[in-house]
Amino acid sequence: MIIAIDGPAASGKGTIARRLARHYALPHLDTGLLYRATARALLDEGARLDDPERAEAAARGLALTDFDEERLRGADMGEAASVVAALPQVRAALLEHQRRFAARPEGAVLDGRDIGTVICPDARVKLFVTASPETRAQRRALELRGRGEEVNFADVLADIRRRDERDSGRSSAPLVAAADALRLDTSELDVEEAVAAAVALVERRRAGA
Ligand code: C5P
Repeated sequence: MIIAIDGPAASGKGTIARRLARHYALPHLDTGLLYRATARALLDEGARLDDPERAEAAARGLALTDFDEERLRGADMGEAASVVAALPQVRAALLEHQRRFAARPEGAVLDGRDIGTVICPDARVKLFVTASPETRAQRRALELRGRGEEVNFADVLADIRRRDERDSGRSSAPLVAAADALRLDTSELDVEEAVAAAVALVERRRAGA
């Protein structure tokens, strides 16, 4: 079974994806890490984030297994990732790896922005996870403070809105719910409630509803 999970930054999709993967004993790919690692590689070599040729080379050159998550999870890398993610050359370079991951015999859980629309259009289960920008900014601020970053709410909210706009407005694989995705709004839910709601939606799809 392939479970495709899409949604904007800090909607809860990453946590839901990890928990569903554990629940159904499936491998999980956080596809945002691929874009973050591409941006990191470009910054490390002093290249511009919007240079299509170097960005494509960086994406193709990624060591795809061993991500240094500590270096990739910061707020600045989320922003940088959304710049490289708008380049069609980068998306094309990362497509095969994601499709191969999804093609494992047992299935997989993938989360990102274009999983249900582009990477796995035939996924058995598609979830589109949302929450209000304010809720997402609150969660992201808490998470970043937990990592020792000094952030204020207004900056995090502005960052979330800017990323939403860039991810939804780009021409290549924009953030949009697949027509057959089940929507889950986590604004009023805590983690356990959101996971329970996600499992219920997966079961509904598995039952053919
Ligand atoms: O999910 P995460 O915040 O790690 O993603 C970082 C950025 O990578 C997103 O803002 C988005 O621009 C890009 N991304 C994407 N497609 C994906 C996953 C992430 O464009 N499947």
